[in-house]
Amino acid sequence: MKPQELCDIDDLATSLVVDVFLGFNTHKMNTEHKERYKCKSHLKPVIDEFIKNQSMKLAFESFWNRKYIPDHLFKASYKKLVRDHIERYMGMFYLDSGFRIEPCYRYSLENKVGAKVNATSHWHKDGIIKRLVGCVAELTEKEEDEILHVGKNDFSVMYSCRKKCAQLWLGPAAYINHDCQANCKFVPNDKGTACVKVLRDIKPGDEITCFYSANFFGENNVNCECCSCEKLCKGAFKTNEEQPKLGRYNFRQTNGRTNSYRSPDKSKKVKEPKTPQKKKNEVLEPCTPNKNPEVDKGEALLGSPYTKIIQKTRGLDLDQASKSPEK
Ligand SMILES: [Zn+2]
Repeated sequence: MKPQELCDIDDLATSLVVDVFLGFNTHKMNTEHKERYKCKSHLKPVIDEFIKNQSMKLAFESFWNRKYIPDHLFKASYKKLVRDHIERYMGMFYLDSGFRIEPCYRYSLENKVGAKVNATSHWHKDGIIKRLVGCVAELTEKEEDEILHVGKNDFSVMYSCRKKCAQLWLGPAAYINHDCQANCKFVPNDKGTACVKVLRDIKPGDEITCFYSANFFGENNVNCECCSCEKLCKGAFKTNEEQPKLGRYNFRQTNGRTNSYRSPDKSKKVKEPKTPQKKKNEVLEPCTPNKNPEVDKGEALLGSPYTKIIQKTRGLDLDQASKSPEK
């Protein structure tokens, strides 16, 4: 899928499935056309029926209707793409899925109303949660400029150092939150998708989390609001010494992180965080595609810490050719 198609189809799928299930609107890529992709709450019976009969064919017959599908997607050429992507979300209701997207009232960046992914069955270390997938679409720099709006819809963008481009990453797995002691990690799947590998045993009800990076929420994740930080009185919950007066997440750290990924200067390599479960080539890392030097200031940057990056060659093959915002 091209990036704009992925944005449109993902917004459609989340509005038809996730938002209907949760009862409120969740993240959208098309910030200008929010109305088009609003929660269709009266479709709840379609989901209830699917949970009982597990028939994607029947569910899709209800969804594929001019009333719900925007005109530009209501075409034979899009039908399969739309169906497949809706099924990725409906996948959480399959009996064997082992996860559900649930409401999350934790993170200040989402004004404390967002979503998370919870396990619905036991998962054992090294297991793969196959239905918990994300779809990747590579972005040209022009598309980055056209599609991404800092702090508004850059919640799931990664930067591939191997391919030297930013990538949109959307699907059920884009609802996974960060945790400093994450129980899962993102791994490449079939072409154009990624899914989730289990790092330690998980029981039903546990939140499924991934580690975005060591400096995602400020340096050393000083502003991290994850559950592990709360338990260990770290990150945003650290009380025994003075915290930087950031209020919320700090762009400066994001900017520094970005520069370190994009800088051609090898001395600015990102250090390998000391997390034993990491392997090269299979790591999700955060980075804001920082093509806007002017974004160095202002409230618009608050969303930046959502921005994620898959760095395929962690710290070893930094993007030598990319532009450096410092020059
Ligand atoms: Zn944390």
